Amino acid sequence: MSRSPLRATAPAKAEVPLLKMRKCPVKKGGCGASFRPLRHGQLACLDCAVPVGKWLATSKAKAAHKEDIKQTKAALEKLKRVPELKKEAQKAFNDWVRARDAGKACFVCGRTLVLGGVGGGFDAGHIRSRSNADNLRFDERNVHGQCKPCNAVGATKDWQMREAADRLLGPEVAAELYADNKPIKWQRDQLRQIRDESRAKLAALKKSSR
Ligand SMILES: [Zn+2]
Ligand SMILES: [Zn+2]
Repeated sequence: MSRSPLRATAPAKAEVPLLKMRKCPVKKGGCGASFRPLRHGQLACLDCAVPVGKWLATSKAKAAHKEDIKQTKAALEKLKRVPELKKEAQKAFNDWVRARDAGKACFVCGRTLVLGGVGGGFDAGHIRSRSNADNLRFDERNVHGQCKPCNAVGATKDWQMREAADRLLGPEVAAELYADNKPIKWQRDQLRQIRDESRAKLAALKKSSR
């Protein structure tokens, strides 16, 4: 059987389709011109390969640096012991109490509590002291805005504090508070939770008062 020479020609190899035009990225150091990439993943026109490559390397380095900081922070957080976490939790909790009670009256003497000023204006005072009732150091019933003079060592007598608690909480809740002596052994994750929740509550309070 004879074939015509035309039919014997192998079909032309399929052409590699051209890649879509794209824009040389100005934000990454490119020129902004349209170009047709020669290979997949080519971000910039040939003229801008160097500056855009530099930009990419820098941003990768920045991301790596950020990740590094994040991991270091996480590692440090893991190393924190109870006393340090307790301190952080108390600071966050007290900051939140002060924000909550700003503008109210000192629960002992009635003086108006104003945020700011030297030493933060007023304290987050504990009805039952932290040394006396470690279990109540983060209890919302137990911690309230108190002026600094009232919170100074020895300034408020025990009976005055008890009266203030009765006034503020009502005798029933105050009695519960004074009877609450559950032993507590603070755990690290518990303290982290109190710290983080207090920070979140403070942030929410600040946001809503803006
Ligand atoms: Zn370019
Ligand atoms: Zn006071």
